[in-house]
Amino acid sequence: MNNSSNINTAGNPLLGGRGAVSVIGAGTMGNGIAHVFAQSGFKVVLVDVNPSQLQRALDTINKNLDRQLSKGTITEEQKKSTLANISISSIINDGVKDAQLVIEAATENVDLKLSIFEQMDTYAPAGCILATNTSSISITKIAAVTKRPGHVIGMHFMNPVPVMKLVEIINGYATKKEVTETIIELSKQLGKIPCAVNDYPGFIANRILMPMINEAIYSLYEGVAGVEEIDTVMKLGMAHPMGPLQLADFIGLDVCLSILKVLQDGFGNPKYAPCPLLVNMVLAGRLGAKSGEGFYVYTPGSKDLVVSESFK
Ligand code: NAD
Repeated sequence: MNNSSNINTAGNPLLGGRGAVSVIGAGTMGNGIAHVFAQSGFKVVLVDVNPSQLQRALDTINKNLDRQLSKGTITEEQKKSTLANISISSIINDGVKDAQLVIEAATENVDLKLSIFEQMDTYAPAGCILATNTSSISITKIAAVTKRPGHVIGMHFMNPVPVMKLVEIINGYATKKEVTETIIELSKQLGKIPCAVNDYPGFIANRILMPMINEAIYSLYEGVAGVEEIDTVMKLGMAHPMGPLQLADFIGLDVCLSILKVLQDGFGNPKYAPCPLLVNMVLAGRLGAKSGEGFYVYTPGSKDLVVSESFK
């Protein structure tokens, strides 16, 4: 698909870098999305039902801006203006009422997303684009619960959002061409590289990534090799910057499990069935980096990669 667009940017506040954006969900992805938009000059309202997540998100953004500052990629003034562009809210209704674009980045759960989109549709202004950062859930299904399916689109940022260049843009069945063009152009203005794909389970990124991660977990489960060996083979053998088990920890094992279930249901193909070890780890609350332990153990302030006792 051709990603180039000749859209007229004049008069579209979203494309002038001065628009108002709301981000729903202040977890791993939401804080990064808020960071990137705020740094590009947008007024951002970050919304989460959990007030402690909002505070954690602001702390993370602050820390990440400090890292950019120490590398010399932003100035103290840019840090200040980025933080000043972000406000927080724990109520969707208030958070979206002035937005030209709302990006939903809440937990990967279809019923939750459908209910959030109903609320976003009710309270966001007419003409506002409703985007989701979902990793795998059908954009068409989400769009169908709104009265503006033409204005619903997937805007799938990669983790960590301030660092990763790709934005996978997913066209729902009813997404209007001008909405896709606006989101492609907007992504470029954020300094990202958009790539437009169509709406089938897992889109492209996770349709290809998750079976690899699942196979790595199966290899561990069946005792073919240990955590470090599996990750080392893929890092050194395939030139992956991170092994699949470390990457799964980084993404969140609950997120990986949800995506595999969407692939399994969506294609009706048992090849996507999540490994029982992944299921058990999620049931046990071993969610990876965000919970402090997955295949590896994560100690705040330490960059050492230590394999979890469960796999020694
Ligand atoms: P996360 O668990 O870190 O954060 C989810 C946040 O959503 C939490 O802060 C939670 O309090 C909040 N939330 C739950 N219900 C809410 C509601 N009703 N209203 C507002 N906020 C609510 O999850 P994440 O990893 O940031 O994933 C968010 C989305 O991004 C998912 O759809 C996921 O598939 C997608 N995604 C994740 C990654 C990744 O690497 N983690 C990468 C790309 C896309």
